[in-house]
Amino acid sequence: MLFGAPGSGKGTTGKMLTKLTGWPHLATGDLLREQIARKTPLGLEMQSILASGQLAPDDLVSRMVWDRLGWPDCENGFLLDGFPRTIPQAEGLAEWFGGRQFRPVLIHLWVEYNEILRRLTGRRTCPVCGAIYHVESNPSKVPGVCENDGAELTVRADDREEVVMQRLQTYQRQTWPVAETLRKHGILVEAIDCGEMDPESVADRIVWRLDRISGSIAKKTKN
Ligand SMILES: [Zn+2]
Repeated sequence: MLFGAPGSGKGTTGKMLTKLTGWPHLATGDLLREQIARKTPLGLEMQSILASGQLAPDDLVSRMVWDRLGWPDCENGFLLDGFPRTIPQAEGLAEWFGGRQFRPVLIHLWVEYNEILRRLTGRRTCPVCGAIYHVESNPSKVPGVCENDGAELTVRADDREEVVMQRLQTYQRQTWPVAETLRKHGILVEAIDCGEMDPESVADRIVWRLDRISGSIAKKTKN
């Protein structure tokens, strides 16, 4: 289970982990879109709930995940991203693991608060072509101007400092009780300090840690 605040590089790290381990990367949002696209009974039910402006309820999200975890590609391991997000989902997952041969680990991608602020608030986006720059780590050749089309770069509403702070607070408020619930059920919580590392090094570090915890489960699935 991959946990990480906005700006922690969770998406990229997840993709790299899949490359290193062969485990499928199961992001709840993707699963949801897939069910809706395939027009499964679950997908249709979800669609009507989402269309009415409500959030997908715990039991439906959980059923969707249990369904996916039953696929053969999950037999040797899998990577959950965006699940569990609530205490009932966490309780359900702990129960699901209970009868099975897995060694679940919660990986918390930890990035220092000011570093996250720096990463997110430094982003500049081109309103014309969608290119993303960063004032420090990936600046455009002419400051404030898109290299593709010369358009003036803007700060997305989501990346303004006060909005970033709100997003981080929401993340912490929701995540902490979920992590605590999993911990109470004996699930290992591993924090990876990834403030100074690129997503590739973070993924390497996670595989190394998982190898140590699980006696090379990650290595076995590499071939
Ligand atoms: Zn552009």
